[in-house]
Amino acid sequence: MKYIARGNIHIHSNLSDGTSSIEEIAEDANKAGLDFIVINDHEHLRGKEMGLEGFYGDTLVLVGQEVNRVKNHYLVLGLDEVIQNNEENPKEIISEVKEKGGIGIIAHPYENGSPLVNNGRTFPWTDFDLEGFDGMEVSNYSSEWRDGAKTLLHAVYANFINDLAYIRSPNPKSYAKWKELTKKKKVTGIIGSDAHAPIFKVGPFKFKILSYKYLFSSGNNYIYLDTPLHEFKKNNDVKNAREALLKAIKKGNLYICYDRIEKGDGLLVYLKDNKDNIYLPGDFVPQGRYDLFVGFDGGRKDKSASLLIESYEGIQIFKLPVEEKLYLKKGTYNLHLSHKKHKNWIIINPFYVK
Ligand SMILES: [Zn+2]
Ligand SMILES: [Zn+2]
Repeated sequence: MKYIARGNIHIHSNLSDGTSSIEEIAEDANKAGLDFIVINDHEHLRGKEMGLEGFYGDTLVLVGQEVNRVKNHYLVLGLDEVIQNNEENPKEIISEVKEKGGIGIIAHPYENGSPLVNNGRTFPWTDFDLEGFDGMEVSNYSSEWRDGAKTLLHAVYANFINDLAYIRSPNPKSYAKWKELTKKKKVTGIIGSDAHAPIFKVGPFKFKILSYKYLFSSGNNYIYLDTPLHEFKKNNDVKNAREALLKAIKKGNLYICYDRIEKGDGLLVYLKDNKDNIYLPGDFVPQGRYDLFVGFDGGRKDKSASLLIESYEGIQIFKLPVEEKLYLKKGTYNLHLSHKKHKNWIIINPFYVK
């Protein structure tokens, strides 16, 4: 039996350029029903040094880092020491994180920018031929929202009136690049919220857009675990909770959901061979015959969704729940669920058939 932990990654607190303290952010996350969050402030691990990792209500708070400012932003998880910026040489950053046993994730690799924010400035990743990174943001919610908000009117409209206006995510270039990379190697795909909750001032008015609360119900990561996080919470076992979560993220045992369309909890996706071995999304799978199961626990949401499988065979479409006998040949099988309201609702890490 697998358990699913739902959480938000890539959050900035007021220890860097966010607008709330880690304690306040944790409270918002707890109210949003998140099982975990990961803080990635720029250039330091002050939150960790201050002892702020741990359980806040039912939410586990972990502290990582975001390296670099101008370009080649890299999320680092699971380290106790700070990785120095090195804008021109991401290769060195990637190796350093790997050597020290951390997890490295490329942040917002492609962005279009908006004239509203920093004159349309973007913060791209410059070299995909590098080896050794563990994952990438297939989607960065704030960045994609900003790409759609071309004027102040757009921004107000999308934040306060039609909150589905800019869900065009994921960034098509990031999604295409990720799928291309997964054909050659394992690259864990995640969604980052990049929450800063900036405060805008227009004349006498002040308002916050993309608040923590807003982003916590916009897009999240759903991680498959052997033990639910609340079991660790009973003994306040932060160390093992952290380890279990990071291990599953590194393996890619997870799916991404645009919760703003509809929450994606309880999605079971696995392959079973004739010896009852189970393989999860993100796993390496031997070539052979399998039963594929894809469906929601309880089945309530199956009616809104269909499954698309992309592989060397092209695209296959199934109605949920899926219980299919398949022969899987060597190659990568990328899966996603399309919702009747949106074509990319849930993006599932691939099965890598060897
Ligand atoms: Zn960044
Ligand atoms: Zn960031």
